[in-house]
Amino acid sequence: MMKKMLALCLSGYSALAMAGFDVVALGVDGGVSDGNLTSYLIRSDNQTRYLALDAGSLLPGIAKGLQKGSFPQVTPELAAPYTPQGYVFRQLIDSYFISHAHLDHVAGLIIGSPQDSKKTLYAQADTVLTLRNHYFNWKAWPNFTDAGNGARLGTYRLQTVRPQQRFTLGLTGLSGVMYPLSHDRYPSSMLLVSDREGSFAYFGDTGPDALEQSRNLDSIWRVLGPLIEQKQLKGMIIEASYPNGVEDKSLYGHLTPAWLLKELKNLQQYSGGDGSLKDLPVVIGHIKPSLKQGEDVRATIKQQLEQGNELGVRFILMEQGDRQQF
Ligand SMILES: [Zn+2]
Ligand SMILES: [Zn+2]
Repeated sequence: MMKKMLALCLSGYSALAMAGFDVVALGVDGGVSDGNLTSYLIRSDNQTRYLALDAGSLLPGIAKGLQKGSFPQVTPELAAPYTPQGYVFRQLIDSYFISHAHLDHVAGLIIGSPQDSKKTLYAQADTVLTLRNHYFNWKAWPNFTDAGNGARLGTYRLQTVRPQQRFTLGLTGLSGVMYPLSHDRYPSSMLLVSDREGSFAYFGDTGPDALEQSRNLDSIWRVLGPLIEQKQLKGMIIEASYPNGVEDKSLYGHLTPAWLLKELKNLQQYSGGDGSLKDLPVVIGHIKPSLKQGEDVRATIKQQLEQGNELGVRFILMEQGDRQQF
């Protein structure tokens, strides 16, 4: 009897402690392989609808996620008349945040647009302009947006977001604040997603401040530091595109394990100093696959991160279709 009560209490407590974010990786690579490009779904544990963080690959990632059991809430009965894949795509993805307009972050959205449902797309001004002028322009692709030239099919409402201003993310129950990033001097962005319980940081492509001659990451670390001190930050997704040894001049606005560790060390100083980043979940994304025999870039990058991990950060490499709670 006592044992049963104890078990009940414990499970009740863990349910409370579990409240946070549910993340499904739809695509984890930083280019080359067109079925597995950067995109993640995130939702608040107590909500049904997801925000898509970038949209490099959508439908292939959803199929993989269904195979892996990462959408246990979806059954064919619930999905009808759509397939489970179609249901996740059309119904469970409420809205999109696009970090920047490079093709490896928007290809899935463009290709899937003819069968998507009406949604809002949030992005910084430059990204909205590129989507409107260079993709959805009736030349590269029909105009599925509510703005720009020619007939407007209106599937996507393009919503420009301003840096450092909180906005509501559709019907996800989440709010966001966008911060600018420098990506080979090209504008990229980070989204700090929040619900009542905490926050989660999603980084688009970025180079290190030192190479970009920028203070963008430093400004972000100053914002995240206090959130870490208050145990508010549940985790982050950030890139490490290339292994160590790739020359700085060949990084084109990306991070290596060494550069990422250097940046995280800067974050540590704003988070309460030594040991303050211990066990912080850091998902590593945007790894550029190698097409050479015998090269496993994912394994190399993971090993290089662990070797230099004096900070005690918990590095996570998600595979396509994986689900993770934060
Ligand atoms: Zn990219
Ligand atoms: Zn990029």
